[in-house]
Amino acid sequence: MKCVICGSDTCNKAIFKNSFTAYGNLQCLGGGMCDRCDEKINNSWYRRNSWIELKGGKIIQIDRGNELDSVMNIPLSDKEIKSGFRLYITKKCRKHGWLSIGDRFEYSREFFAIAFEDELIFIDSNKVKEFYEFVKMLKHKYKLSKHEMYSGDLSLKSMKRLRGKYRCVMRYIKRVKGNPMWELVVCLI
Ligand SMILES: [Zn+2]
Repeated sequence: MKCVICGSDTCNKAIFKNSFTAYGNLQCLGGGMCDRCDEKINNSWYRRNSWIELKGGKIIQIDRGNELDSVMNIPLSDKEIKSGFRLYITKKCRKHGWLSIGDRFEYSREFFAIAFEDELIFIDSNKVKEFYEFVKMLKHKYKLSKHEMYSGDLSLKSMKRLRGKYRCVMRYIKRVKGNPMWELVVCLI
């Protein structure tokens, strides 16, 4: 049989605890579960932390506060990138969000997919860097709130701080809001 999480061959049947509800995020048909995925699903460390997994099985923890950095500059050698990796970022540490990348590996540091909580997001690292610089400025120089950066609806106070630039900033946010890379940056900065 195939592992329902990663798709590899296994003789073990998939057995989930009653508390498991993330069936919608399982990527493969098959009814099996390999030892590796069994360990990941039953060890809460994997949902409580953000991490990178190399194809060989090595896990690198991403410290809280370093998530965006790790997306913009994946802390792996070119050789490790080429051999395959997957990257998981958790927000609330509750869900098995990594299931949505359970069967895929990435091979580029410029264009790749990650699991962000339980969402699969496609990353263009240059775009993320551009958003990061802009959000950093809005946050530190103009004190915009996350809500304002998500929605583009600026408070009067923020407009005053932005002075002549507020129209341009509003237009920019309205254009990029809803873009998962924008939401990733605003959430993690
Ligand atoms: Zn598996």
